[in-house]
Amino acid sequence: MTFWPSVVVATPAHSGVGTSLTYRSELSLAPGTLVRVPLGAREVLGVVWDCPATPPEGLTEAQTRPVAGVLEGLPPLNARWRQLVKFAAQYYQRSLGEVALAALPPQLRDLSTVQLARRLKKHQAARNAEYTPAAEDSADGHALSDEQRSALQALAGAQAPVLLFGATGSGKTEVYLRATQRALAEHASAQALVMVPEINLTPQLEARFRERFEPLFGTGALVCLHSGMTPAQRLASWLAAHAGHARIVLGTRMAVLASLPGLRLIVVDEEHDPSYKSQEGARYSARDLAVYRGKVESEALVAEAALLRAGPHPSPLPGGEGAHTARCQVVLGSATPSLESWHAADQGRYLRLAMPARIGGGELPRLRLVDMNHQPKGAVLAPPLIAAMAERIARGEQCLVLLNRRGYAPVLACHDCGWKSACPHCSAYRVFHKLDRTLRCHHCGFTERVPRACPDCGNLDIAPVGRGTEQVEEQLAGLLADVKRPDGGPARVARMDADSTRLKGSLEVQLATMHSGEVDVLVGTQMIAKGHDFRRITLVAGINADAGLFASDYRAPERLFALLMQAGGRAGRDAAFMSSQGAASELWVQTWTPQHPLFDALRRHDFPAFAATQLAERESAGMPPFGHQALLRADARTQQAAQAYLNAAARAAAGLPHAGDVTLYPAVPLTIQRVANVERAQLLVEAASRGALQRFLAAWQPVLLECRSLPEARGLVRFAVDVDPLAI
Ligand code: ADP
Ligand code: ZN
Ligand code: ZN
Repeated sequence: MTFWPSVVVATPAHSGVGTSLTYRSELSLAPGTLVRVPLGAREVLGVVWDCPATPPEGLTEAQTRPVAGVLEGLPPLNARWRQLVKFAAQYYQRSLGEVALAALPPQLRDLSTVQLARRLKKHQAARNAEYTPAAEDSADGHALSDEQRSALQALAGAQAPVLLFGATGSGKTEVYLRATQRALAEHASAQALVMVPEINLTPQLEARFRERFEPLFGTGALVCLHSGMTPAQRLASWLAAHAGHARIVLGTRMAVLASLPGLRLIVVDEEHDPSYKSQEGARYSARDLAVYRGKVESEALVAEAALLRAGPHPSPLPGGEGAHTARCQVVLGSATPSLESWHAADQGRYLRLAMPARIGGGELPRLRLVDMNHQPKGAVLAPPLIAAMAERIARGEQCLVLLNRRGYAPVLACHDCGWKSACPHCSAYRVFHKLDRTLRCHHCGFTERVPRACPDCGNLDIAPVGRGTEQVEEQLAGLLADVKRPDGGPARVARMDADSTRLKGSLEVQLATMHSGEVDVLVGTQMIAKGHDFRRITLVAGINADAGLFASDYRAPERLFALLMQAGGRAGRDAAFMSSQGAASELWVQTWTPQHPLFDALRRHDFPAFAATQLAERESAGMPPFGHQALLRADARTQQAAQAYLNAAARAAAGLPHAGDVTLYPAVPLTIQRVANVERAQLLVEAASRGALQRFLAAWQPVLLECRSLPEARGLVRFAVDVDPLAI
């Protein structure tokens, strides 16, 4: 008998290849089966989507090719996973094959059947060797705080996604750990997915999960999944999750698409973090997909339970009494939730659980605003701030200094002729890096040695303009040179940013010097503000914090508030240490706009008030989450072509169904309009409802493909749709 499986393969987005291709097979293949199929002259990995016994209308045997092979030993990808992938492809306007195949580990594509069989065998052997039966209890030291206990109680009964609104230091991680433990205890094959913005930044979190669960479930029970892993590691983690051997997957946004047949809990830590939104390929929001996935998995579990109860042999459910309410819970955690999630909680779509108090009863840092209009001209760091830091260091406390710009100075300039260190390939300046004496473009990577004289006029006196982390580190080392630590040693300043952590392992080393107290002051970009549980920091300073406020992006205040609140959250985390020191922790903010209302809410640590005013503004302007947006982006050899393509696509949209439900704005260049010699432009689409936007985009998609061949679009390199964009 012949079957006609339809198979999705990795087709480049917009290649015009349909959602799936039809092949022939002598065997019936279950949907979700991984196969190898011929495509042109190559053989590629594919996922069986359907396997009818009759060929699609009009297709003959001669027109189809047989499936080349089945990846033996791998269970099919289940229906829930396929539904998730299908939804993501539709919602974010990409091809099914692109999303499906991007969700699989790249090495799966390259391994032969024999190689794969060997991996699976090794994997199985390792698992058997390491597996130890679950111990009775977690034997963990912490007694839960009252807030943690009531949050966990409420979580247990929650039907909706939970927004865990917990102050910095309120012990959210412990809630994740307990929720995970409970979910895994429900069923022998239950799995949990725990997502973090960047795993490398939070080695502490991974350590805590390992410490808690490896004694219970064995060392293979927790796997990581993120883009920093080698292809072999990624494959091993993916296989472990897919086969159900891994009970916990700890990963970054990509992990939301992992195959997890026993999924019962999804945690999204620091759910406000922009890194959950992908900026290339399918531009999905892992947070939003997590919520969708939780719903799909829950529905399947409920349906399964109903089937079991109604079946011919009603059987007691695995997991006992509570099992009939089995579902897949979603927990979004943050001290500064995204306004989208906050609004969803306001509306009752999410259940908000608050943990306002810090563990140990410590206080959140006191805000100290420094009005830079009243500081000595040209001062990078205000004198009172330096004095405060000196005091802290002398008492054996640590400081964090946050500056969102790496390098020594953002521009190098000649004051004689006006030359500036522009990048020849981008509409941006190259950043001066003093340590290795280079000018580096942070957009395209173009790097040159710093010229000895002005390239235009020969003037020897070319000077840095503005400041970056390297310069602040240098200045602080000078300004604090005479300050002594309690042990009599000189104050030590270190820097942590993408440059200082480029080498593998260097980030861990730098974090360790901070934890051990070797370093007194850590200067760095936003990576120092995220998630760390430093115990002896008592002062945090944001030194060019309001740069973002002058940007036109309507999300700038939201981002700044979150950044400062999170950065401040690194201070005063150890209540016992704070009371032994006798002084409150402080958050210093240097600003040119001290009257900005954002600072009032920050002073009171009042996120709800801040969110309420922001949401009111958004509502009156019809901005997200009240309105819905998508961007059509075009890259082209000339700005003119990029914009012409966009405007043509907009004109062609006029006659489409649902066009009346959306507003299309004229094409505009991006803020940095040229990167690596490619000109970039975008066009904003707005709609009052998500549904209206989706209906329009679906109708628009074929038009976008057609418009590529218009004469005015010559020079177009690519286009992409960004649904729910984070920046416009
Ligand atoms: P958050 O993620 O909310 O900022 P953490 O989860 O990092 O906070 O917890 C802050 C600190 O409090 C950590 O050092 C953690 O070990 C500790 N902690 C958490 N829960 C408890 C508890 N119930 N009792 C004692 N210490 C706790
Ligand atoms: Zn010059
Ligand atoms: Zn460049």
